[in-house]
Amino acid sequence: MSEESFRVRFWGVRGSLATCGPEVARYGGETISMEVTCGNRTLVFDVGTGGRRLGNDLSERGIRNVDVFISHFHYDHIEGLPFFAPLYSADGEVNIYSAHGRDALSTRDLIEGFVRPPYFPIHPDKFVADWRCKDIVVGNALDLGDGIALATFALNHPGGATGYRITYGGKSLAIITDNEHVIGTRDEPLGRFIAGTDLVIYDAMYTDEELPRYVGYGHSTWEEGVRLCEAFGAGPLAAIHHRPLRTDAELDDLGVIAGKTRAGTLFAKQGQEVVLIP
Ligand SMILES: [Zn+2]
Ligand SMILES: [Zn+2]
Repeated sequence: MSEESFRVRFWGVRGSLATCGPEVARYGGETISMEVTCGNRTLVFDVGTGGRRLGNDLSERGIRNVDVFISHFHYDHIEGLPFFAPLYSADGEVNIYSAHGRDALSTRDLIEGFVRPPYFPIHPDKFVADWRCKDIVVGNALDLGDGIALATFALNHPGGATGYRITYGGKSLAIITDNEHVIGTRDEPLGRFIAGTDLVIYDAMYTDEELPRYVGYGHSTWEEGVRLCEAFGAGPLAAIHHRPLRTDAELDDLGVIAGKTRAGTLFAKQGQEVVLIP
């Protein structure tokens, strides 16, 4: 790994609800969490149940300084946060960012709102790390230092969610979860947001065939992600937020069809890494 390395590792790719069993063992059942490495910086996108193993791994690797970005506060994107080891390390430094659309609550309000009885046994006062909450205005861009630029985008999801675009070392990566598209309509602003990115991680909860039954649930399809990447010169596409009931065999089949539809399209597996800069 070079000093300029830019890569993403998937620690949880399941949407909505953690799931386990032999039929989901290869793609994994942990909910959304991704580690993005930019040189010597570590960024974490969402802390679903996959964030527990990620946090343990960061601690084992001696990584104490972490920037965490939460797309939105649905359970499948935050449930691992109170199990995130760097928060319990006295020498840890953890910045937690979230952006808000309709919801006026701050990042701190949102965390203190669910890390507490009766939902959880303890309060965040047990986080002994130096942890700070940061609020982003959705739509704004952020300079994270060390040559890392972050742009944000308001996604179409019940209660709102934030899409991210990370640019580093001349490459860029978009994380678009959770987002519902309007059937038959191309989302031009979202297309412009992902235009030219080298990888698009995308909410592929449903297929085009399934989506009409789930209008209003806040999710998209791998086919729409591919159409958007194709129209705006982005990608390849990495599908995440797999339905809890989707088996490994079904995800394999979808991956084959998606790869034939557009070369390079993949259905992400838990533990998989995609390298943008080696
Ligand atoms: Zn979700
Ligand atoms: Zn959601």
